[in-house]
Amino acid sequence: MIRIRTATTAAPRPRPLLRLRLRALLGVLLLATTVAAVAACGRPGSPPVKGPQSEDLPVYRAATGFELPGSRTWERARKRGHLVVGVKEDQPYMGEKDPARGTYSGFDIEIARMLSASLGFDPKTIEFKTISSANRETALQNGQIDYYVGTYTINDNRKKQVGFAGPYFMAGQSLLVRRDEKDIKGPDDLVGKKVCSAAGSTPYQRLQKDHPEAVLVSYDTYSVCVDNLLTYQVDAVSTDDSILLGYAAKVPEELKVVGTPFSKEPYGIGVPRSDDALRLALDDALAENEKNGNWKKAYDATLGLSGQSAPNPPVIDRYPTD
Ligand code: GLU
Repeated sequence: MIRIRTATTAAPRPRPLLRLRLRALLGVLLLATTVAAVAACGRPGSPPVKGPQSEDLPVYRAATGFELPGSRTWERARKRGHLVVGVKEDQPYMGEKDPARGTYSGFDIEIARMLSASLGFDPKTIEFKTISSANRETALQNGQIDYYVGTYTINDNRKKQVGFAGPYFMAGQSLLVRRDEKDIKGPDDLVGKKVCSAAGSTPYQRLQKDHPEAVLVSYDTYSVCVDNLLTYQVDAVSTDDSILLGYAAKVPEELKVVGTPFSKEPYGIGVPRSDDALRLALDDALAENEKNGNWKKAYDATLGLSGQSAPNPPVIDRYPTD
């Protein structure tokens, strides 16, 4: 809201620009309406919108008699009676929170739920906590969460601080621009362009290193970047294609994803680094859910709605304990 007001009270501009700003404002309003509409999805009389439909989602049954000796995280959750899982809340079809009902939906959320059931916890009891890209390692190290499922790329640097089960999905860095953008088609077209990404993310780090000629802007979340794109304050948003396709699918008349992905982002389930028992149990649980069809069913009902059919899940990397 403040951002919008700032834009409208700015010094008078020539007519065409003003028109563009109005279009941008319209875009923001449209986005807000779409988000509200998705939030209202399923209520009597609500408009038919493209969002995860509960009848299409798998039903997960909590494993009975499951024990995980050797996992401090699992024991802590057992005493508590439920799992605490870190996620994102503003990434359409991946991890999205309905602000009215406080419920979460998306592919990452389904992954979190199916794993919870395999570990013997009723997925309905999960306490979801929104954690931004920059705060994931700290949240796992401090014991704020038991595991994390939120477009979290596995890499060697992060493996020094946390453990990763998976991968459960392969994404790639891409670019989101306004539909009327003509100049930006790939990362080499970013010279002098304002590009927004999330602090602490691998796409931000890659732009910094490989494309220093771009003017980088960072926020805690990608949805703030998208607001900035719609209001003409940045020229592009860069992160994983899985995230960007979701934003584009919400307002296709305003936004588009361009070019081909220029990195590999294997998504893992973050766990406390010392808890190998939990990590390997999650690997087993993931393999089981890929085999029994839950993974594909969950994908089709969530991320599949942003336009790409289900790929084969990547090979799980049960790396040795150290
Ligand atoms: N997958 C990338 C990362 O883990 C970008 C998405 C995100 O920030 O969550 O940094």
